Amino acid sequence: MAHKSISLNINGIMRKFSKLTYNLSLLAQDFSIIPKNDPRQALRLRRFFISFGVYILINLPLCYLAYQAGIVSLKIICWQLGIMLIFNVLLYVTFRTGLNKQMKDPSLTSVQICIASLMVMFAIFFILEARGILLSLYILILLFGIFHLDTRQFLYVSAFILLTYGIDIFLLQIFYSQEIKLKTEVLQWFALAVILISVSFLGGNISALRRELSSSKKKLRSSMLKIQEMAIHDDLTGFYNRRHIMELVESEKNRSVRTGSVFSLAMMDLDKFKNINDTFGHQTGDNVLVMFSTIIRSVLRRTDFCGRYGGEEFLVLLTETDIQEAKVFAERARTRVEKSMFPDLGRHSRITVSIGLAEHQTNEDIDKTISRADEALYQAKKNGRNRVEVSQYKLLKSDILF
Ligand code: GH3
Ligand code: MG
Ligand code: MG
Repeated sequence: MAHKSISLNINGIMRKFSKLTYNLSLLAQDFSIIPKNDPRQALRLRRFFISFGVYILINLPLCYLAYQAGIVSLKIICWQLGIMLIFNVLLYVTFRTGLNKQMKDPSLTSVQICIASLMVMFAIFFILEARGILLSLYILILLFGIFHLDTRQFLYVSAFILLTYGIDIFLLQIFYSQEIKLKTEVLQWFALAVILISVSFLGGNISALRRELSSSKKKLRSSMLKIQEMAIHDDLTGFYNRRHIMELVESEKNRSVRTGSVFSLAMMDLDKFKNINDTFGHQTGDNVLVMFSTIIRSVLRRTDFCGRYGGEEFLVLLTETDIQEAKVFAERARTRVEKSMFPDLGRHSRITVSIGLAEHQTNEDIDKTISRADEALYQAKKNGRNRVEVSQYKLLKSDILF
């Protein structure tokens, strides 16, 4: 048992180590202040810089004013700035090396809030009589949690702030007992507790609302994608529906006008399919259509598109394909179907398909190419089915360009 947990621990450490080396290799590839190859980390770092900037903007003028008023010495200000700088450099290194990604909250919001409140704790201790003003900073610090913290985390961070302020009061009581009134300090502590708890609940609600909003946005986006998929696909076979395959054929024709590329169409129709339905039932007929689509999918190239043109009729768009290459495809599809076993039909029944081919001709109307493929299919049926027939393009007077 102990042996197992040790090996688990070692595995965990190894995983973390390999993640860290991976992050470091990313860092080596892209050594900029904000990473370009990781948008989520870039966002976290931008937020870190914003909070750091706000901190500087508030901190420096306050230090200056406090120094001018003689409330605090230059030495204390330097100490404060130095500690703050060390904390922020450590935070930046954690972000930039990707160490933060291995933590529960990769944005390090709680850590950043706690560090900021430690800095305020430091200032409160040294600034003595003016410390009432600094208490409002706690609320500002807490508000940075609105992007990531839930109510519970807000309350934990508030508890930490109250603890640091409590320590302040305790230390002031020890070192400056003549200069502070304990009763007033405790009253201030309670007032701060009430405010922080209220802000925690309010902030927790706002961040929950934000999370809900972003999750419903995600759901909406995935539903939209699903609807888009459904709008162009046939439910049963998963091939494109008639409308979409026609759109693809039309855009391929436009492409061929622009680039002079060739393409061919294959019209496929299952032979004697009515018999399948009559003998085995409609459900088996459906299953056969699904199996047929799997077979056709296996012979299609990545650049070919297949759509369900009618009940058991399919139109294949063969891009960059002349009639000779189309013949090779059609023969391959026909023999693959002929040789395939359809378990639903028992041992002896086979399925065959007839295919009509037409190569699109320059200036030819797309309906004309489709009807030529259809005629070739009709010919294949007439000549005995389970065949491939090719439409010979007949030059009409209207096709001749002077
Ligand atoms: P041919 O070799 O001449 O094509 O004969 P066929 O029986 O296949 O031709 P026909 O066009 O007369 O019949 C097609 C049949 O396909 C009729 C229809 O009931 C069936 N069918 C069309 N769509 C579906 C479908 O989605 N599911 C099932 N199970 N059958 C379908
Ligand atoms: Mg048929
Ligand atoms: Mg038919």
